[in-house]
Amino acid sequence: MTVTVDRVKCACSDCVCVVSVDQGVKRDGRIYCSDECAGHHAKGDGCHHAGCKCHG
Ligand SMILES: [Zn+2]
Ligand SMILES: [Zn+2]
Ligand SMILES: [Zn+2]
Repeated sequence: MTVTVDRVKCACSDCVCVVSVDQGVKRDGRIYCSDECAGHHAKGDGCHHAGCKCHG
């Protein structure tokens, strides 16, 4: 039995969130925790996760 749960840190450099490969937002071959991070915080919004201060 093989359980593969790949968890990676969000590709946003300021973001501390960790997401599973399956649930992350894939953009440009990187994996982000949210659309905000994937869009490089173009609107200045953070990722809304507790304890994370990323705003781009
Ligand atoms: Zn975050
Ligand atoms: Zn993120
Ligand atoms: Zn971010």
